[in-house]
Amino acid sequence: MNEFALIDLIKAECALQRADVRIGNGDDAAAVAIPDGHELLVCTDTLVAGRHFPMDTRPEDIGWKSLAVNLSDLAAMGATPAFALLALCLPSADSDWVRAFARGFADLARLHDVALIGGDTSRGPLTITVTALGFAPHGRALKRSGARPGDTIVVCGDIGLAAAGLHHLTTMPERSRDGLDDSKSSMQRWLDALNRPTPQIEQGLLLRHYATSAIDISDGLAADLGHVLRQSGVGADIQLPSIPGFEALSQSFGADLAIRWVLCGGDDYVLLATLSPDRFDEARAAFQRSGVMLTPIGNVTAAPGLRVHDIRGSALALDKAGWDHFA
Ligand code: ADP
Ligand code: MG
Repeated sequence: MNEFALIDLIKAECALQRADVRIGNGDDAAAVAIPDGHELLVCTDTLVAGRHFPMDTRPEDIGWKSLAVNLSDLAAMGATPAFALLALCLPSADSDWVRAFARGFADLARLHDVALIGGDTSRGPLTITVTALGFAPHGRALKRSGARPGDTIVVCGDIGLAAAGLHHLTTMPERSRDGLDDSKSSMQRWLDALNRPTPQIEQGLLLRHYATSAIDISDGLAADLGHVLRQSGVGADIQLPSIPGFEALSQSFGADLAIRWVLCGGDDYVLLATLSPDRFDEARAAFQRSGVMLTPIGNVTAAPGLRVHDIRGSALALDKAGWDHFA
């Protein structure tokens, strides 16, 4: 199969049309209309085989995830996704692989009415770069830099599950990976968190009404909250036992792994935000109606730095290997 047949295959799988695409996929560049009073938000993320996902990840999952990580960035800005571009670097012209990949990508694109308006295809080590575009009302996009001392820090879902999924894949023998497909076990939940992250678009739109800052957790809670704190010129205290997912992971894997995964695991694609404490009850009720729990995990402080407290209130320290108890 040649390059153009592969492109046609991708276009056929991702055939979603939008009225605001004025010049669509197939020309030298696409042209899109921006709604009055809105800004265009643009982000891009690359997934490299063996680095961002295990080499034997199913192509459907790689397709889904390559779009999901980008939609998650738009969600963190409070944007409504609209368009995507797909730059694919493929080791070979494997049409079955490309069809399955495009199907996973299209499954998520359809859920959020995202049109594939262009891309690039070349030969090389398996690498996927997606660019996502979306809209937010003028001046209303959420940023990392708005956190204020006294704000409550919230997360919009369980943390550390994807890291548990990756741990499961790298420690379980090949044979026991199969047979999980139809089970609703915890393991399947962890693997789904790793392979099929859900970008929190609706939650990002809700946060636009309440949050002073927001970010999606992709590199681990500690690192990503750290970005918010630095860019806002503030610090924070957070309570480890309040982090949703921590207790369950502790029970299954012990506290040391659970601490590492909820603070440093990454690949969560859960939104973290700060908001004034007097908006919290209203925000939580709105989130409940959207079927997602908004969980407070700590507070923003004027004093810089991130302090993580365990169940007894003692602080944990960051060492080279990750977060650990003070000796
Ligand atoms: P050019 O040589 O002008 O860059 P290409 O031959 O690379 O154009 O691509 C032809 C058309 O197909 C373009 O509209 C491009 O956006 C689209 N395209 C190429 N690769 C992909 C892809 N992987 N996914 C979606 N669209 C693609
Ligand atoms: Mg051209």
